[in-house]
Amino acid sequence: MSSLQDPERVSETGPTGLSAAEITGALARVRARIEQAERKFGRPPGSVSLLAVSKKKPPEVVRIAYGAGQTAFGENHAQEAVAKMDALADLPLEWHFIGPVQSNKTRPIAARFDWVHSIDRIKVARRLDGQRPDDLPPIKVCIQINVSDEPSKSGIRLDEMVDFAREIGTLPRLELRGLMAIPEPSTDFEAQRIPMRKMRGALEALKGQGMALDTLSMGMTDDMEAAIAEGATVVRVGTAIFGSR
Ligand SMILES: *Cc1c(COP(=O)(O)O)cnc(C)c1O
Repeated sequence: MSSLQDPERVSETGPTGLSAAEITGALARVRARIEQAERKFGRPPGSVSLLAVSKKKPPEVVRIAYGAGQTAFGENHAQEAVAKMDALADLPLEWHFIGPVQSNKTRPIAARFDWVHSIDRIKVARRLDGQRPDDLPPIKVCIQINVSDEPSKSGIRLDEMVDFAREIGTLPRLELRGLMAIPEPSTDFEAQRIPMRKMRGALEALKGQGMALDTLSMGMTDDMEAAIAEGATVVRVGTAIFGSR
């Protein structure tokens, strides 16, 4: 059925969107994938949480996902996210910034987000620290690692990580929780596991330096099982829940 013939699509998610029933069903399938991977790879039940990536999708789809029990959402564009938050201010949602942070866009991120997964510059970290409002708890952050060493990709190099983490640790309005990565895509499961395993080792190395960290943010629609196999605690999933963008 075309979007023009189906009033539910038009009214709830825009002309190209999925229906509420499709989003609810997709969310249940993603949760089932996570539970199955937890079982298969010996992870405790409930040890992997789902961040629903709602970037480029309208507030209506976030509301539908909330109705199906989802409370944590990921965005990668500050202005778009703030408009969405305002439209959804009646819901108790948790917002995670997962995209590159431009240093002139830190203020709305510091004021409106609960988490930032994509810290890879000290300058940005200092600005977020200075701009975090006093009435909010410290903003939870992960350091983004360029784990596949791709030129011109976001994230710091692994050999910079310990010093970088120590500097983040001195910023009182930031709470360092762990690491994040977007490994180079691969369609081969065993190949997907390699950078994920590297990330697990990196988190263990930081913990070995005495840092109390609990978050490994990795795994998306096409590689969440490999991420869970290697210790992800948060998978960031968009397409499998909300459809293509
Ligand atoms: C868009 C995005 C995702 C979600 O990717 P899907 O393949 O749609 O699941 C996850 N992480 C980051 C950083 C993203 O920008």
